Amino acid sequence: MLKRTHHCNELRTDHVGQEVVLAGWVNSYRDHGTGLVFIDVRDREGLTQFVFDREDASQDLLDQADKLRNEDVIAARGTVRVRDGGPNPKLETGQVEVVVAELQVLNKTANPPFLPDDQGDLPKEEVRLRHRFVDLRRPAMQRILRTRHRVTKTARDYFDEHGFLEIETPILCKSTPEGARDFLVPSRHQPGHWYALPQSPQIFKQLLMVSGCDRYLQICRCFRDEDPRADRQAEFTQVDCEMSFVEREDVMEVMEGFVRRVWGEVLGVEVPKLDRLTYAEAMDRYGIDRPDRRFGLELVDISDLAAKTDFKVFTGALEKRRGVVKAIRVPGGADTLTRKLTDGYSEFVKQFGAGGVPVAKYTGAGDTGGFETGAARFIAPIADELVERLGLEVGDTVLFGADAYDVCTKALGELRLKVGRDLNLIDESQWNFLWVYDFPMFEYHEEDGRWYALHHPFTAPNPDQVAAFLAADINDRDAVENIVSAGYDIVVNGSEIGGGSIRIHDQSVQSKVFTLLGMSEEEARGKFGFLLDALRFGAPPHGGIAFGLDRLVMHLCGTDNIRDVIAFPKTQIGADLMSDAPSPVAPDQLTELHVRVIEEDAQ
Ligand code: ASP
Repeated sequence: MLKRTHHCNELRTDHVGQEVVLAGWVNSYRDHGTGLVFIDVRDREGLTQFVFDREDASQDLLDQADKLRNEDVIAARGTVRVRDGGPNPKLETGQVEVVVAELQVLNKTANPPFLPDDQGDLPKEEVRLRHRFVDLRRPAMQRILRTRHRVTKTARDYFDEHGFLEIETPILCKSTPEGARDFLVPSRHQPGHWYALPQSPQIFKQLLMVSGCDRYLQICRCFRDEDPRADRQAEFTQVDCEMSFVEREDVMEVMEGFVRRVWGEVLGVEVPKLDRLTYAEAMDRYGIDRPDRRFGLELVDISDLAAKTDFKVFTGALEKRRGVVKAIRVPGGADTLTRKLTDGYSEFVKQFGAGGVPVAKYTGAGDTGGFETGAARFIAPIADELVERLGLEVGDTVLFGADAYDVCTKALGELRLKVGRDLNLIDESQWNFLWVYDFPMFEYHEEDGRWYALHHPFTAPNPDQVAAFLAADINDRDAVENIVSAGYDIVVNGSEIGGGSIRIHDQSVQSKVFTLLGMSEEEARGKFGFLLDALRFGAPPHGGIAFGLDRLVMHLCGTDNIRDVIAFPKTQIGADLMSDAPSPVAPDQLTELHVRVIEEDAQ
């Protein structure tokens, strides 16, 4: 076999006159009838033009060349020359071509389902996934794989420089409730016993801190059997870290450095010191715990003003538990926000439980305090104060939300994003990073009348909250709701790319969390006995974070399709279209595992 001397994106005018061997896939074949046959050969690095000269080449060679088809795998030996037909500025190798002296067809290719040349329209994603090995040949996909590699390599280098050890943790684990549904694997040796695939290595990395490993890193696969969501995969990858003898600031500093290194190394973007927002501030001002701050449209509380009106929508909301009235100023909205858009907004917020969106245009004229349309006459009594509070200028529109705090902020937070998109207010060239911290430790779910950990049950209360937490009566909703955790999220452009916390290293605190989450002592011991033991036997203060690698790479590559950044992804219902997984297995495999399948209609 001819062995490569160069890759397909390497030859330049410096190489003219040299004999070279290249190998790759036939990207295109052109016979212009001028006595020359041109073939572009592609490998992972790029394209090089090969040329066969009908006058000089042997008949054998020409016969071989004439039979070449797209995606045939070839190697060729030849001499580099300056391109006869003038340079091709679109190719990095566009100054030169290789005049072929010897050709080896390493593999003939059947007609491929599509051509991976990124030129024409892409086929449907289903076709791409079914033939992923062809799809991944596309230069755009190769770029993504390379970026992903760059990120993991940067992670390994950066964390190594900061004293982290890469340590693997098990894939076959004990099923412990961590929020999502587990993937289960039956044990052959112990009938009726099951392993779970890890939702994250959370407990293991904490145990590594108890083991004295000090700083841990793992680029690990996590498995969560969640319902289909466009931006999620059931199997995803985290850059997972944990550190001993640290407080929140220490973790944030190291992790911020990592983000800075990645953006610098991959995109050449300098990330400034990250802004910080408390969870409460994020919710108050943006209605979401991962605000996109590339544009304004902040939520402003006007409850005190609303209370002075007779507007039932406002006053009714203020009578609710934690009732609020909030407003968004849309600069110039009188022109840009059409009636059709604002009517749509009232419909839009209904999915978040809100009743609608009262709207007022500020024209500065008329006899309702300068406001027009919709809610204008109701807000006339507070017109001047509203103008001042919101900094309104003539031509602005105000969108209102009035409801219990959670409903109102959520609805307006989503609406803010929608208006931002509708009016093209988001500057896509910006990178806006921030930390969100001081999350509530628990949230109460009315549906099942119980508490849930907002992060996960191993997150510590903030140091100044420990005493209050230990003292809190779990039936005192306000007291529990007010406990702030030592958790933190890192957000870029409105998307959470990492989350972590300082962990509980005190057994009594951990036990109280389990009790609060509704676990009896036996249950807690049954599920987490090993962790509770570890906390008794010398657990250092520790904390960490996990970055979503897929999400990081999506940002760095500018795609919003998570499947684009995973070499072999699954569809939204967890199917691998290429290998056809999941699939039925032979009955004796099941018998061996002591598993019987219940047919659908027998259920
Ligand atoms: N294990 C957590 C998660 O997967 C991250 C962390 O707290 O470090 O969300």
